[in-house]
Amino acid sequence: MTVPKSHPRYESLMKRDKLIEAYKSGMVAEAGMIAHGRGEAFDYLLGECTIPEAEEAEMVAASLLLNANNPVISVNGNVAALCPEALVELARIIPAKLEVNLFYRTDERMKKLVKHLEDHGAENVLGLEPDAHIPGLEHARGLCTNEGIFSADVVLVPLEDGDRALALGKMGKTTIIVDLNPLSRSARAASVTIVDEVTRAIPNITEFASQMKGQPVPDFDNSKNLRKVIDRISHALFELRCAFGQG
Ligand code: ATP
Repeated sequence: MTVPKSHPRYESLMKRDKLIEAYKSGMVAEAGMIAHGRGEAFDYLLGECTIPEAEEAEMVAASLLLNANNPVISVNGNVAALCPEALVELARIIPAKLEVNLFYRTDERMKKLVKHLEDHGAENVLGLEPDAHIPGLEHARGLCTNEGIFSADVVLVPLEDGDRALALGKMGKTTIIVDLNPLSRSARAASVTIVDEVTRAIPNITEFASQMKGQPVPDFDNSKNLRKVIDRISHALFELRCAFGQG
């Protein structure tokens, strides 16, 4: 698709294009396209930019990953399709392990995603040979590796579904979620919720990580941060409502 860079929805259209291509090549599940649409709707309400609450959560996420014993970045189809280079760069800077972990797991999709990450510079991507299981999740959805997600103390799970976010939390892990929907179950279950678009969030975490080595983890209240995000959305809607006038 040829879209001029001056098009007001250029960035959004390019992301859709990447996801369509990844869907056609078998990396993204059908449901992944629907999840992206839900995310776009919330991004619209947030002004399609990184809000201060997200920036604070990204800073805390960088610090948690840097201070972890076994930090792992869990990668699904949408995230791999949208920002593979950024994931690889974040994994390098921390350093953290990358593990492909899918809700709609098939061997074929797993292999394609691992190869896609390797094509973008990743090494030792985990996930193809699961040897552990996240308790409380039905078989295929709980598969993971002992070296990676199972033994991780801090897990970054961009765009995770609520059940798995909750299950990881119940295992005692610190969970960092990227989700544009501050109302989702994952957003409410996470230790740190980053309400930002994933292609903005991952490079921001990397940038903070490159500045914060050796520093302690700052205090952070996730519920308070989420309340501020919801207030921000409510305020934006009220302003829009006012723009339509009285009556
Ligand atoms: P939950 O189970 O946590 O209540 P859900 O059913 O909405 O949430 P999914 O269907 O797995 O979970 O959707 C994933 C979430 O990812 C959606 O809430 C959507 O807002 C968010 N999302 C989709 N695309 C992006 C993106 N590019 N950046 C950030 N968030 C996104």
